[in-house]
Amino acid sequence: MTTFGSLAGVAFLAAATPTVAATLSTAPFGATADGKPVSLTTMTSVHGVTVKFMSYGGTITEIITPDRQGHPANIELGFSSLRDYETKGAEGGFYFGALVGRYANRIAKGHFSLDGHDYTLAINNPPNSLHGGLKGFDKQVWDVQPGAASGQAVSAVLHLVSPDGDQGFPGKLDLSVTYTLSDDDALSIQYKATTDKDTVLNLTNHAYFNLAGAGSADGVFQQVLMVNADQYTPTDKTSIPLGHNAPVQGTAFDFRQPTAIGARLRSDDEQLIWAQGYDHNWVLNKQGDAAVPQLAARAFDPASGRTLDCLTTEPGVQIYTGNFLKGAYAGNGGVYRQTDAFTLETQHFPDSPNQPSFPTTELKLEQTFNSTTVFRFGVRK
Ligand code: BGC
Repeated sequence: MTTFGSLAGVAFLAAATPTVAATLSTAPFGATADGKPVSLTTMTSVHGVTVKFMSYGGTITEIITPDRQGHPANIELGFSSLRDYETKGAEGGFYFGALVGRYANRIAKGHFSLDGHDYTLAINNPPNSLHGGLKGFDKQVWDVQPGAASGQAVSAVLHLVSPDGDQGFPGKLDLSVTYTLSDDDALSIQYKATTDKDTVLNLTNHAYFNLAGAGSADGVFQQVLMVNADQYTPTDKTSIPLGHNAPVQGTAFDFRQPTAIGARLRSDDEQLIWAQGYDHNWVLNKQGDAAVPQLAARAFDPASGRTLDCLTTEPGVQIYTGNFLKGAYAGNGGVYRQTDAFTLETQHFPDSPNQPSFPTTELKLEQTFNSTTVFRFGVRK
Protein backbone atom coordinates (compact mmCIF):
# COMPACT_ATOMS: atom_id res chain seq x y z
CA MET A 1 0.00 0.00 0.00
CA THR A 2 1.31 3.47 -0.86
CA THR A 3 0.51 6.21 1.61
CA PHE A 4 0.38 9.44 -0.27
CA GLY A 5 -1.10 12.11 1.86
CA SER A 6 -1.13 11.79 5.59
CA LEU A 7 -1.41 14.94 7.66
CA ALA A 8 0.73 14.05 10.64
CA GLY A 9 2.06 17.00 12.55
CA VAL A 10 -0.84 19.38 12.00
CA ALA A 11 -1.81 21.26 15.15
CA PHE A 12 -5.23 20.39 16.55
CA LEU A 13 -7.02 23.41 17.90
CA ALA A 14 -10.24 22.17 19.49
CA ALA A 15 -9.76 20.65 22.93
CA ALA A 16 -12.20 17.82 22.09
CA THR A 17 -10.47 16.95 18.82
CA PRO A 18 -8.89 13.50 18.92
CA THR A 19 -5.11 13.50 18.67
CA VAL A 20 -4.97 11.43 15.51
CA ALA A 21 -4.20 12.65 12.03
CA ALA A 22 -6.44 12.40 9.02
CA THR A 23 -5.05 9.90 6.53
CA LEU A 24 -5.24 9.14 2.86
CA SER A 25 -3.85 6.00 1.25
CA THR A 26 -4.25 4.13 -1.98
CA ALA A 27 -3.96 0.47 -2.89
CA PRO A 28 -4.48 -1.69 -5.97
CA PHE A 29 -8.11 -2.80 -6.52
CA GLY A 30 -7.70 -5.22 -9.42
CA ALA A 31 -8.08 -4.51 -13.09
CA THR A 32 -10.99 -3.88 -15.44
CA ALA A 33 -12.15 -6.68 -17.73
CA ASP A 34 -10.09 -5.04 -20.47
CA GLY A 35 -6.97 -5.01 -18.28
CA LYS A 36 -6.69 -1.48 -16.92
CA PRO A 37 -5.37 -1.34 -13.33
CA VAL A 38 -7.78 0.20 -10.82
CA SER A 39 -6.92 1.67 -7.41
CA LEU A 40 -8.93 2.13 -4.21
CA THR A 41 -8.26 5.26 -2.16
CA THR A 42 -9.22 5.49 1.50
CA MET A 43 -9.59 8.84 3.26
CA THR A 44 -10.19 8.98 7.01
CA SER A 45 -10.97 12.13 8.98
CA VAL A 46 -9.74 12.93 12.47
CA HIS A 47 -13.10 11.73 13.82
CA GLY A 48 -12.86 8.40 12.04
CA VAL A 49 -15.24 9.08 9.14
CA THR A 50 -13.94 7.04 6.20
CA VAL A 51 -14.61 7.56 2.50
CA LYS A 52 -13.37 5.00 0.00
CA PHE A 53 -13.40 5.52 -3.75
CA MET A 54 -11.98 3.68 -6.72
CA SER A 55 -10.39 5.06 -9.84
CA TYR A 56 -13.00 3.19 -11.92
CA GLY A 57 -15.76 5.75 -12.35
CA GLY A 58 -14.36 7.82 -9.47
CA THR A 59 -16.86 5.62 -7.64
CA ILE A 60 -17.39 6.11 -3.92
CA THR A 61 -17.61 2.53 -2.70
CA GLU A 62 -18.14 3.13 1.02
CA ILE A 63 -18.75 5.97 3.49
CA ILE A 64 -18.31 4.77 7.05
CA THR A 65 -19.61 7.03 9.81
CA PRO A 66 -20.37 6.49 13.52
CA ASP A 67 -23.90 6.47 14.88
CA ARG A 68 -24.85 8.31 18.09
CA GLN A 69 -23.32 5.48 20.15
CA GLY A 70 -20.13 5.66 18.15
CA HIS A 71 -20.75 2.42 16.23
CA PRO A 72 -19.50 2.71 12.65
CA ALA A 73 -21.48 1.56 9.59
CA ASN A 74 -21.21 1.98 5.85
CA ILE A 75 -24.00 4.35 4.75
CA GLU A 76 -23.46 4.23 0.96
CA LEU A 77 -24.72 1.41 -1.26
CA GLY A 78 -22.23 -0.34 -3.49
CA PHE A 79 -20.79 -3.67 -4.54
CA SER A 80 -17.98 -5.67 -2.98
CA SER A 81 -15.70 -5.98 -6.01
CA LEU A 82 -14.69 -4.10 -9.12
CA ARG A 83 -16.04 -6.95 -11.26
CA ASP A 84 -19.48 -6.59 -9.65
CA TYR A 85 -19.53 -2.89 -10.55
CA GLU A 86 -18.56 -3.74 -14.14
CA THR A 87 -21.13 -6.53 -14.52
CA LYS A 88 -24.06 -6.26 -12.08
CA GLY A 89 -23.76 -2.48 -11.80
CA ALA A 90 -23.74 -2.00 -15.56
CA GLU A 91 -26.58 -4.52 -16.17
CA GLY A 92 -28.73 -2.94 -13.48
CA GLY A 93 -27.86 0.63 -14.50
CA PHE A 94 -27.41 1.66 -10.86
CA TYR A 95 -24.45 4.11 -10.99
CA PHE A 96 -23.76 3.42 -7.28
CA GLY A 97 -21.48 6.21 -5.99
CA ALA A 98 -20.13 7.06 -9.44
CA LEU A 99 -19.10 10.30 -11.08
CA VAL A 100 -21.67 10.76 -13.83
CA GLY A 101 -21.20 12.64 -17.11
CA ARG A 102 -21.01 14.05 -19.63
CA TYR A 103 -24.67 14.62 -19.02
CA ALA A 104 -26.01 13.43 -15.67
CA ASN A 105 -29.74 12.69 -15.99
CA ARG A 106 -31.73 12.47 -19.20
CA ILE A 107 -31.60 14.08 -22.63
CA ALA A 108 -34.91 13.59 -24.41
CA LYS A 109 -34.78 11.06 -27.25
CA GLY A 110 -30.97 11.28 -27.15
CA HIS A 111 -30.95 14.40 -29.25
CA PHE A 112 -29.91 18.04 -28.91
CA SER A 113 -28.68 20.91 -31.08
CA LEU A 114 -25.82 23.25 -30.35
CA ASP A 115 -24.37 26.07 -32.50
CA GLY A 116 -26.51 24.87 -35.42
CA HIS A 117 -25.28 21.25 -35.27
CA ASP A 118 -27.45 18.26 -34.34
CA TYR A 119 -26.03 15.68 -31.95
CA THR A 120 -27.29 12.12 -31.45
CA LEU A 121 -26.65 10.09 -28.31
CA ALA A 122 -27.26 6.46 -27.37
CA ILE A 123 -30.81 5.68 -26.22
CA ASN A 124 -29.75 3.70 -23.13
CA ASN A 125 -32.91 4.49 -21.11
CA PRO A 126 -35.62 4.21 -23.77
CA PRO A 127 -36.78 6.52 -25.20
CA ASN A 128 -34.08 8.78 -23.73
CA SER A 129 -30.35 9.02 -23.17
CA LEU A 130 -29.30 8.72 -19.51
CA HIS A 131 -26.15 9.60 -17.57
CA GLY A 132 -23.81 10.20 -20.51
CA GLY A 133 -24.58 7.15 -22.64
CA LEU A 134 -23.23 3.62 -22.93
CA LYS A 135 -19.75 4.31 -21.61
CA GLY A 136 -20.01 7.45 -19.53
CA PHE A 137 -17.54 8.77 -16.96
CA ASP A 138 -18.79 6.17 -14.47
CA LYS A 139 -17.18 3.43 -16.60
CA GLN A 140 -13.85 5.17 -17.24
CA VAL A 141 -10.67 4.66 -15.24
CA TRP A 142 -9.66 8.07 -13.87
CA ASP A 143 -6.12 9.13 -13.01
CA VAL A 144 -5.92 9.66 -9.23
CA GLN A 145 -3.26 11.82 -7.57
CA PRO A 146 -2.87 13.11 -4.03
CA GLY A 147 -4.29 16.60 -3.55
CA ALA A 148 -2.74 19.46 -1.64
CA ALA A 149 -2.96 18.98 2.12
CA SER A 150 -4.65 21.87 3.86
CA GLY A 151 -5.08 22.05 7.63
CA GLN A 152 -6.52 18.71 8.72
CA ALA A 153 -8.20 17.98 5.38
CA VAL A 154 -7.07 15.25 2.99
CA SER A 155 -7.79 15.32 -0.71
CA ALA A 156 -7.30 13.53 -4.00
CA VAL A 157 -7.57 14.84 -7.54
CA LEU A 158 -9.18 12.67 -10.22
CA HIS A 159 -8.48 13.54 -13.82
CA LEU A 160 -10.07 12.42 -17.06
CA VAL A 161 -9.80 13.51 -20.69
CA SER A 162 -12.91 12.79 -22.72
CA PRO A 163 -12.13 12.99 -26.46
CA ASP A 164 -14.09 15.04 -28.98
CA GLY A 165 -17.13 12.97 -29.98
CA ASP A 166 -17.03 10.76 -26.86
CA GLN A 167 -20.49 9.10 -26.61
CA GLY A 168 -21.66 11.61 -29.25
CA PHE A 169 -20.83 14.81 -27.31
CA PRO A 170 -18.81 17.57 -29.00
CA GLY A 171 -15.45 18.90 -27.78
CA LYS A 172 -12.43 17.38 -26.07
CA LEU A 173 -13.19 17.80 -22.38
CA ASP A 174 -10.48 18.08 -19.74
CA LEU A 175 -12.03 17.29 -16.38
CA SER A 176 -10.70 17.33 -12.81
CA VAL A 177 -12.65 16.32 -9.74
CA THR A 178 -11.25 16.89 -6.26
CA TYR A 179 -12.52 14.80 -3.36
CA THR A 180 -11.66 16.46 -0.03
CA LEU A 181 -12.50 15.09 3.42
CA SER A 182 -12.31 17.88 5.98
CA ASP A 183 -11.74 17.91 9.73
CA ASP A 184 -15.49 18.56 10.22
CA ASP A 185 -16.32 15.33 8.34
CA ALA A 186 -17.48 17.01 5.15
CA LEU A 187 -16.78 15.38 1.81
CA SER A 188 -16.43 18.12 -0.75
CA ILE A 189 -16.56 17.33 -4.46
CA GLN A 190 -15.15 20.05 -6.70
CA TYR A 191 -15.55 19.74 -10.45
CA LYS A 192 -13.52 21.75 -12.96
CA ALA A 193 -13.64 21.34 -16.74
CA THR A 194 -12.58 22.99 -19.97
CA THR A 195 -13.38 22.11 -23.57
CA ASP A 196 -11.78 22.78 -26.97
CA LYS A 197 -15.22 23.21 -28.61
CA ASP A 198 -18.61 24.42 -27.35
CA THR A 199 -20.37 21.55 -25.61
CA VAL A 200 -22.95 20.68 -22.95
CA LEU A 201 -22.03 19.39 -19.51
CA ASN A 202 -23.90 18.24 -16.41
CA LEU A 203 -21.95 16.44 -13.69
CA THR A 204 -22.93 14.74 -10.46
CA ASN A 205 -21.97 12.08 -7.99
CA HIS A 206 -24.53 9.28 -7.75
CA ALA A 207 -24.06 8.16 -4.13
CA TYR A 208 -27.00 6.19 -2.69
CA PHE A 209 -27.36 6.96 1.02
CA ASN A 210 -28.95 4.94 3.78
CA LEU A 211 -28.11 6.62 7.08
CA ALA A 212 -29.06 3.49 9.05
CA GLY A 213 -26.41 1.54 7.15
CA ALA A 214 -26.50 0.05 3.65
CA GLY A 215 -28.87 -2.91 3.63
CA SER A 216 -30.61 -2.00 6.90
CA ALA A 217 -33.90 -3.85 7.25
CA ASP A 218 -36.22 -0.83 7.04
CA GLY A 219 -34.62 1.06 4.18
CA VAL A 220 -35.03 4.84 4.25
CA PHE A 221 -38.81 5.16 4.78
CA GLN A 222 -38.46 6.61 8.28
CA GLN A 223 -35.45 8.80 7.47
CA VAL A 224 -36.29 12.47 7.56
CA LEU A 225 -35.48 14.81 4.72
CA MET A 226 -35.54 18.58 4.31
CA VAL A 227 -35.11 19.99 0.81
CA ASN A 228 -34.48 23.71 0.41
CA ALA A 229 -36.74 24.10 -2.61
CA ASP A 230 -40.06 25.84 -3.21
CA GLN A 231 -40.38 24.29 -6.67
CA TYR A 232 -39.62 21.14 -8.63
CA THR A 233 -39.69 20.22 -12.31
CA PRO A 234 -42.62 17.86 -13.04
CA THR A 235 -42.00 15.37 -15.83
CA ASP A 236 -43.76 13.32 -18.46
CA LYS A 237 -44.03 9.52 -18.11
CA THR A 238 -40.47 9.10 -19.38
CA SER A 239 -38.99 11.44 -16.71
CA ILE A 240 -38.42 14.33 -19.12
CA PRO A 241 -39.37 17.70 -17.56
CA LEU A 242 -42.49 19.35 -18.93
CA GLY A 243 -40.55 22.63 -19.13
CA HIS A 244 -42.01 24.56 -16.23
CA ASN A 245 -41.35 24.69 -12.50
CA ALA A 246 -44.24 23.70 -10.25
CA PRO A 247 -44.72 24.75 -6.62
CA VAL A 248 -44.12 21.99 -4.08
CA GLN A 249 -46.77 23.55 -1.82
CA GLY A 250 -49.56 21.07 -1.13
CA THR A 251 -47.82 18.17 -2.92
CA ALA A 252 -45.81 15.09 -1.98
CA PHE A 253 -42.77 17.08 -3.12
CA ASP A 254 -42.94 19.57 -0.25
CA PHE A 255 -39.93 18.80 1.95
CA ARG A 256 -39.41 22.38 3.13
CA GLN A 257 -40.14 21.15 6.63
CA PRO A 258 -38.31 17.96 7.67
CA THR A 259 -40.56 15.05 6.63
CA ALA A 260 -40.11 11.28 6.60
CA ILE A 261 -39.18 10.13 3.09
CA GLY A 262 -41.90 7.45 3.22
CA ALA A 263 -44.63 9.74 4.56
CA ARG A 264 -46.17 10.40 1.13
CA LEU A 265 -44.50 7.77 -1.06
CA ARG A 266 -47.75 5.85 -1.36
CA SER A 267 -49.84 8.89 -2.26
CA ASP A 268 -51.89 8.91 -5.42
CA ASP A 269 -49.80 11.43 -7.34
CA GLU A 270 -49.20 10.60 -11.01
CA GLN A 271 -45.67 11.99 -10.76
CA LEU A 272 -44.82 9.39 -8.12
CA ILE A 273 -46.66 6.62 -9.94
CA TRP A 274 -44.91 7.26 -13.26
CA ALA A 275 -41.49 7.34 -11.62
CA GLN A 276 -42.32 4.50 -9.18
CA GLY A 277 -41.31 6.79 -6.30
CA TYR A 278 -39.27 9.96 -6.06
CA ASP A 279 -37.03 10.44 -9.09
CA HIS A 280 -37.32 14.19 -9.64
CA ASN A 281 -35.38 17.40 -9.82
CA TRP A 282 -36.00 20.01 -7.12
CA VAL A 283 -35.30 23.66 -8.02
CA LEU A 284 -33.08 24.82 -5.17
CA ASN A 285 -33.78 28.11 -3.42
CA LYS A 286 -30.74 30.34 -3.83
CA GLN A 287 -29.58 33.57 -2.36
CA GLY A 288 -26.25 35.38 -2.24
CA ASP A 289 -23.04 34.32 -3.95
CA ALA A 290 -23.71 31.62 -6.56
CA ALA A 291 -20.08 30.43 -6.27
CA VAL A 292 -20.56 29.47 -2.60
CA PRO A 293 -22.23 26.11 -1.91
CA GLN A 294 -25.64 26.69 -0.31
CA LEU A 295 -27.82 24.33 1.69
CA ALA A 296 -29.71 21.99 -0.64
CA ALA A 297 -30.91 19.23 1.66
CA ARG A 298 -30.62 17.83 5.14
CA ALA A 299 -31.27 14.21 6.09
CA PHE A 300 -31.61 12.63 9.52
CA ASP A 301 -32.07 9.06 10.66
CA PRO A 302 -33.95 9.08 13.99
CA ALA A 303 -32.86 5.51 14.78
CA SER A 304 -29.09 5.89 14.43
CA GLY A 305 -28.88 9.65 14.93
CA ARG A 306 -26.82 10.06 11.74
CA THR A 307 -27.24 13.31 9.82
CA LEU A 308 -26.26 14.39 6.35
CA ASP A 309 -26.17 17.97 5.09
CA CYS A 310 -25.83 18.60 1.37
CA LEU A 311 -24.66 21.98 0.07
CA THR A 312 -24.09 22.85 -3.56
CA THR A 313 -23.45 25.54 -6.13
CA GLU A 314 -25.73 23.63 -8.56
CA PRO A 315 -29.26 24.89 -9.28
CA GLY A 316 -30.99 21.53 -8.79
CA VAL A 317 -30.95 18.21 -6.98
CA GLN A 318 -32.34 14.94 -8.35
CA ILE A 319 -33.70 12.92 -5.46
CA TYR A 320 -34.20 9.27 -6.27
CA THR A 321 -35.47 6.61 -3.86
CA GLY A 322 -33.85 3.60 -5.53
CA ASN A 323 -37.07 2.86 -7.44
CA PHE A 324 -35.36 0.46 -9.82
CA LEU A 325 -33.52 -1.55 -7.19
CA LYS A 326 -35.53 -4.73 -7.54
CA GLY A 327 -33.76 -7.23 -5.35
CA ALA A 328 -31.96 -8.77 -8.32
CA TYR A 329 -28.37 -8.30 -7.14
CA ALA A 330 -26.43 -8.66 -3.91
CA GLY A 331 -24.47 -5.56 -3.03
CA ASN A 332 -22.04 -4.82 -0.20
CA GLY A 333 -24.91 -4.59 2.34
CA GLY A 334 -27.02 -7.48 1.05
CA VAL A 335 -29.69 -7.57 -1.66
CA TYR A 336 -30.93 -4.05 -2.44
CA ARG A 337 -34.59 -3.24 -3.01
CA GLN A 338 -36.78 -0.20 -3.71
CA THR A 339 -36.50 2.55 -1.06
CA ASP A 340 -33.30 1.06 0.36
CA ALA A 341 -31.60 4.41 -0.28
CA PHE A 342 -32.00 8.01 -1.40
CA THR A 343 -29.73 9.97 -3.68
CA LEU A 344 -28.95 13.68 -3.62
CA GLU A 345 -27.71 14.15 -7.19
CA THR A 346 -26.83 17.84 -7.27
CA GLN A 347 -26.90 18.99 -10.88
CA HIS A 348 -28.47 21.16 -13.56
CA PHE A 349 -31.98 20.26 -14.60
CA PRO A 350 -32.72 17.19 -16.75
CA ASP A 351 -32.84 17.72 -20.51
CA SER A 352 -31.57 21.32 -20.25
CA PRO A 353 -30.04 21.28 -23.78
CA ASN A 354 -33.63 21.00 -25.10
CA GLN A 355 -35.30 23.27 -22.54
CA PRO A 356 -34.61 26.96 -23.24
CA SER A 357 -36.19 28.15 -19.97
CA PHE A 358 -33.79 26.10 -17.79
CA PRO A 359 -30.37 27.35 -16.60
CA THR A 360 -27.95 26.64 -19.41
CA THR A 361 -25.67 23.59 -19.44
CA GLU A 362 -23.56 24.91 -22.32
CA LEU A 363 -19.82 25.08 -21.73
CA LYS A 364 -18.19 27.39 -24.24
CA LEU A 365 -14.69 27.09 -25.62
CA GLU A 366 -13.30 29.97 -23.52
CA GLN A 367 -15.10 29.05 -20.28
CA THR A 368 -14.05 27.01 -17.26
CA PHE A 369 -16.76 24.91 -15.63
CA ASN A 370 -16.68 25.07 -11.83
CA SER A 371 -19.06 23.32 -9.48
CA THR A 372 -18.90 22.27 -5.83
CA THR A 373 -21.04 19.95 -3.73
CA VAL A 374 -20.46 19.18 -0.06
CA PHE A 375 -21.82 16.22 1.92
CA ARG A 376 -21.32 16.79 5.65
CA PHE A 377 -21.76 13.78 7.93
CA GLY A 378 -22.74 14.08 11.58
CA VAL A 379 -24.80 12.68 14.45
CA ARG A 380 -27.57 14.10 16.55
CA LYS A 381 -27.99 12.87 20.12
C1 BGC B 1 -32.28 8.49 -12.47
C2 BGC B 1 -33.08 7.22 -12.29
C3 BGC B 1 -32.17 6.07 -12.56
C4 BGC B 1 -31.02 6.15 -11.60
C5 BGC B 1 -30.01 5.07 -11.81
C6 BGC B 1 -31.19 8.48 -11.46
O1 BGC B 1 -30.42 9.63 -11.58
O2 BGC B 1 -33.06 9.64 -12.37
O3 BGC B 1 -34.18 7.19 -13.15
O4 BGC B 1 -32.83 4.86 -12.45
O5 BGC B 1 -30.37 7.37 -11.73
O6 BGC B 1 -29.59 5.06 -13.11
